[in-house]
Amino acid sequence: MENNNGSSYQIDEAAYKRFDEKYNMLFRRIWDKTLPNFGSFLDTNIEKHINSHKDGYTRIDFALVAAGWTVYEKFPYAFSWERDKQIDIGYGVNWMKSKYSIEDIKSFTATIKKVTMFYGASLVGIADVNEKWIYKTGFKRPDQSSESDAKEKIRIGNITNSILEQPINLPKGINKAIVMAVEMNPDAISTAPAQPEAAAVAIAYSKMAFIISCVGEFIRNLGYRAIQCGNDTALSIPLAIDAGLGALGRNGLLITPEFGPRVRICKVFTDLPLVSDTPNLEFIKKVDKKCKNCYKCAEACETDAISKDKEPNFNSPTISNNPGVKKYYVNVEKCLEFWIENSSDCGNCIAACPFSKIKRFLTPTEFWNMK
Ligand code: SF4
Ligand code: SF4
Repeated sequence: MENNNGSSYQIDEAAYKRFDEKYNMLFRRIWDKTLPNFGSFLDTNIEKHINSHKDGYTRIDFALVAAGWTVYEKFPYAFSWERDKQIDIGYGVNWMKSKYSIEDIKSFTATIKKVTMFYGASLVGIADVNEKWIYKTGFKRPDQSSESDAKEKIRIGNITNSILEQPINLPKGINKAIVMAVEMNPDAISTAPAQPEAAAVAIAYSKMAFIISCVGEFIRNLGYRAIQCGNDTALSIPLAIDAGLGALGRNGLLITPEFGPRVRICKVFTDLPLVSDTPNLEFIKKVDKKCKNCYKCAEACETDAISKDKEPNFNSPTISNNPGVKKYYVNVEKCLEFWIENSSDCGNCIAACPFSKIKRFLTPTEFWNMK
């Protein structure tokens, strides 16, 4: 058994296997007929919600959420593994072809971090690639296709041997991950589980797509390789922990010192020489200690999806939870049931966490009326 970051976050090497992304609930609901919500998704109850005139569930709210996904879903180069074509956009291309000479790796790592923050990341760290966290198989988009176009066949249930089941192997030489977190708006998150919360999530996803697109092209302009990823290709949370961004909480989310779980995570894999960060052991210990006695996320969860066990353990509750890790497991089947009922994600477990540092909790009406 391995204790790779000084916390209760332990791996049982005999049990742990690389994850097949098709077991992610968002995909499983499309193919697994044993699920009560097989074939259902967020649209199932939308009209019922809109007609209810409930605060935070109006057509305006849902329009805000759906539009927030625009860049993430529709921009064709967001998740590229390679540059599309070397088009001259007015700056020439010849100077981009040779490898930029990196003399001082430490100082260059600081430059890369500056670049990610400049493009909009709220937090950044560097991790060595650990194959354990790379999906065994998963969703690999055809080149130049948007998330939404690439998923079209999957959405209609065409799963077997599809782009969802491709073996995921990073090319040789790609051995660093630039892991970035994007803060989500605290006022919107505070309205959870109403739709302004889901809008904050949607916008963060679109920001992720924007940031990784720019970071990936920046790296290619220096003659190196970049693989731009959102939730795809590898498990983001352990990568983020390895990169020193935070700890794993009872709610199954990355808890960061700055924003708690109020972040989304994206990453760019690269062959750039970079200095890796190390896990933030002090903060990991703080979160471990806090989560043992704080059940706020579990109490806020309307479907009892979050473990109320005193100690983390190896009892993974569903086939969508990758076994072999000692932690608090979240029953993601129950979680998705609530998402479908709610017609969006939920965020109660983000808003309730004291590490999210939400100073004021707003109703959706207060959110809309705020100057
Ligand atoms: S997102 Fe909502 S339903 Fe899912 S675990 Fe968190 S609080 Fe529970
Ligand atoms: S709400 Fe409490 S128990 Fe849940 S993740 Fe945050 S600190 Fe841990």
